[in-house]
Amino acid sequence: LDEVDGNFVRTVKNCLFSKCIPTPLKGPLRLAAVSKDVIEEILDLDMAVTQSEDFLRYVSGDRLFPGSEPLAHRYGGHQFGYWAGQLGDGRAHFLGQYSNRKGEIWELQLKGSGKTPYSRSGDGRAVIRSSVREFLCSEAMHFLGVPTSRAASLTVSDEPVVRDQFYNGNVKTERGAVVLRLTKSWFRIGSLEILAQSGETDLLRKLLNFMIDQHFSYISLSDPEKYVVFYSTVVNETAHLIAQWMSVGFAHGVCNTDNFSLLSITIDYGPFGFMESYDPNFVPNASDDEGRYSIGAQAQVGLFNLEKLLAALRPVLTQIQQKRAQIILKGYADLYQMRIHQLFKAKLGLLGEDENDRYLIAFLLKMMEDTQSDFTMTFRQLSEVSAEQLLNMNFTQMWALDDLLSHLLFSDWLNMYLLRLNVNPRYVLRNWMAESAIRKAEMNDFSEVELLHQILSSPFVTQETAEEAGYAARPPRWAERLKVSCSS
Ligand code: AMP
Ligand code: MG
Ligand code: MG
Repeated sequence: LDEVDGNFVRTVKNCLFSKCIPTPLKGPLRLAAVSKDVIEEILDLDMAVTQSEDFLRYVSGDRLFPGSEPLAHRYGGHQFGYWAGQLGDGRAHFLGQYSNRKGEIWELQLKGSGKTPYSRSGDGRAVIRSSVREFLCSEAMHFLGVPTSRAASLTVSDEPVVRDQFYNGNVKTERGAVVLRLTKSWFRIGSLEILAQSGETDLLRKLLNFMIDQHFSYISLSDPEKYVVFYSTVVNETAHLIAQWMSVGFAHGVCNTDNFSLLSITIDYGPFGFMESYDPNFVPNASDDEGRYSIGAQAQVGLFNLEKLLAALRPVLTQIQQKRAQIILKGYADLYQMRIHQLFKAKLGLLGEDENDRYLIAFLLKMMEDTQSDFTMTFRQLSEVSAEQLLNMNFTQMWALDDLLSHLLFSDWLNMYLLRLNVNPRYVLRNWMAESAIRKAEMNDFSEVELLHQILSSPFVTQETAEEAGYAARPPRWAERLKVSCSS
């Protein structure tokens, strides 16, 4: 702990936190949003309390929870590929831990709550625009099943905050807002990096032991390999997190090491974006000119960040352990490929294993890229459309599939997909079906032969004509006595 109180900007040594009191927002406060799920399920509160003036004060930094000693965290980080030195919470205050009735421990943090010793040239504030985005997206990601920090509340004020609105070149005054956000831990890769970079090895070890003790309970603190196991977990979980981002089309926007959580959850929502038209080069952050953090680069950037994490662990690893950690890192690409493959197979409803699945998925993504099909809705509509509609390429009301349909190779892909979709055929050539077709054929009526031929060429797809003919129904009584002779 940095024992010097006060909100003056400086570089510090040998500490993880500085004591630092939030600066309340000016003007009347308004509670713009609360997350019922967080209030009730994490904070054990009744929604009724969110109506009170007290609540508004607590969640905006105007009043402190009993026993709370607000802190700003000191961390460093690699920003856009380069070591940026000390960064730290420049506009966030850690309020303390809350241990809820489920026995979970959550760390509460205010964002936009004023200057800290780490504000550098910043004003310590967050505007309504970015706060609404963080509030909504962190909750949305949670309900999409992607590991993320949570947001309890959004408070807006009339305090003017000046921001450069790069898109129209004007300087526009906006209003300040505060989000109360929570996660099991706010420590990042950058939390360890600053300690390694400044030679603060004792503190580095202390923080690692704390993380292992609190959040990696299956690792024993007495295990000499504990830091290697810790690293292996972060490598594995980071691969999984980025695969999950990709599976919902999420681009974080600023994948610096200070924005990468040691718990491998999504943190620090800034210029993120959900990809609309499928495009691996999608860049959500308008100031990321080189597209370093494009959606398609995220897996590679994850690798870069994990290399930096390994560099930060080096002071506490033996030579042999460093080698082991290197080998673990080499496995990252395969782990990621495995995860992404599982997730995209699930998106297409592909059960079991088929050697052509990678091709089937890559083929679809290429067509989506060529036709600029909507990422979210193409997958959704593929799962909503009936097999019969797919077979007949009847996509009225299915706008994303309608776009995809314009691709020259769509029907090729569709045939592969239909074949793959179900391993259990609905129609097989039962004796009675053949017999019925034969009887007609012998009288020069070949219509049933043709019908059967057509239906059995898509045996996995429910077809109206087949259903009318009873091909998926219980066999008729007369068929019970059917015998097939060997003579041909
Ligand atoms: P970010 O790109 O949002 O992860 O922020 C990088 C660093 O800049 C972090 O240390 C932030 O706390 C700091 N920062 C961003 N905006 C502000 C601000 N308005 N005032 C103070 N610090 C800020
Ligand atoms: Mg950040
Ligand atoms: Mg941020």
